[in-house]
Amino acid sequence: MTTVALSSFDLALPTDEHRMLRDQVRAFTSEKVEPQALEHDQKELFNRALFNEAGKMGLLGITVSDDYGGAGMDATAAVIVHEELSSSDPGFALAYLAHSMLCTNNLFHNASAEQRQRWLPKLVSGEHVGAMGMSEPAVGTDVLGLRTTATKDGDSYVVNGRKMWITNGAVDDVKTPCDVMLFYARTGGTDARPELSSFVVERGMPGFSVGQKIHAKTGMRASCTAEMVLDECRIPLANRIGEEGGSIKHMMRNLALERLTLAAMSLGIARRSIEVMVKYAADRKAFGKPLNEFGQIQKYIADSYAEFMACRAWVYDTARQMPLDAYGNRLDSDGVKLVASTMGKNVADRAMQVLGGYGYVGEYVVERLWRDAKLLEIGGGTIEAHQKNMTRDLTKGPFPWT
Ligand SMILES: Cc1cc2nc3c(=O)[nH]c(=O)nc-3n(C[C@H](O)[C@H](O)[C@H](O)COP(=O)(O)OP(=O)(O)OC[C@H]3O[C@@H](n4cnc5c(N)ncnc54)[C@H](O)[C@@H]3O)c2cc1C
Repeated sequence: MTTVALSSFDLALPTDEHRMLRDQVRAFTSEKVEPQALEHDQKELFNRALFNEAGKMGLLGITVSDDYGGAGMDATAAVIVHEELSSSDPGFALAYLAHSMLCTNNLFHNASAEQRQRWLPKLVSGEHVGAMGMSEPAVGTDVLGLRTTATKDGDSYVVNGRKMWITNGAVDDVKTPCDVMLFYARTGGTDARPELSSFVVERGMPGFSVGQKIHAKTGMRASCTAEMVLDECRIPLANRIGEEGGSIKHMMRNLALERLTLAAMSLGIARRSIEVMVKYAADRKAFGKPLNEFGQIQKYIADSYAEFMACRAWVYDTARQMPLDAYGNRLDSDGVKLVASTMGKNVADRAMQVLGGYGYVGEYVVERLWRDAKLLEIGGGTIEAHQKNMTRDLTKGPFPWT
């Protein structure tokens, strides 16, 4: 009988570079992110100083090449950063994701060389905060129905519309808009076959403003969410990204990475929840013995670990195979977010249950993770949208295992 040597390959740490990155982000998370997380959640504030520190560490341009000051790393590196940050502060991690994945990575892969040179260095350093506007007040899942219009007029476009739920849209409580918002607007076509184009609007352009900062969100309170207004806003031709009508390609390319990194955030939430509940169940006694001797508590812990590990393997395996410069794998990027988001929510819920009354207050962290976890079943595509997309892709075939 031949034996196969056990491999030391770790999907979550494929190279020394990834290991160094994880160590670096883990240290940053415990030293700098954790101490401010509860306060920023309670005050519903984005921590700009912490964001700038992430910029100094090279995290904001994690997938951008070093030509623009980025780290030039892959999807696995992006997953590592999101998992680590979310193990402490998913709200801050969401602001990081909107900036680094939805805006910065999107521009890096879809903008011209001149446009990259214009916007990326300041986005990568943290001098500028970026956002991405796809959703609208009346349109979310049905994105092709978006209502914002861009009408060409001489050497510019006149844009009218509203973008809703935009993470980083406002950067503070006095409605200061982000520096750069990449957004999608309709430039032609019909209702059945709309033509969508991508643009960049910059702070200070007349007609671009924050309609409202959205308060009292269930979770993710350390990220600012805003409604953005584009009112007779003149956008120069030079701010159109790619060809007119090229948005679908931009969206789809970036959505795969968005969904993968949102799934990574659920991993971070679940991992921390497991750590908290395991420790608490060992320390806390009831009826003269530790909680972890009760079968029902053991089920919470063991089920959580098993579901977390299964998701972790699929998330990192999907990251390993995800190209950043090409159309991604929608079946698996939707799939990992579908399964990990609900897993993260359930694991945080079990952790809260294991902690009893202590789980229900901020000091013990899991109530914040529990609130934050729910967003991941909605933002970046609802779980129903993933089910729709995946069924379509599986029906179209071929099956990935054939
Ligand atoms: C905190 C937060 C941050 C966000 N950040 C951003 C951001 O930075 N940029 C951005 O562009 N957007 C952002 N969003 C928007 C988010 O992506 C949308 O909320 C999401 O895509 C769902 O859209 P919707 O809210 O309009 O719900 P809808 O699309 O109206 O859906 C409502 C319900 O109907 C279901 N539904 C809709 N269509 C179908 C269907 N065909 N089959 C079955 N069920 C269906 C949905 O699954 C959901 O359950 C953010 C949202 C939140 C809450």
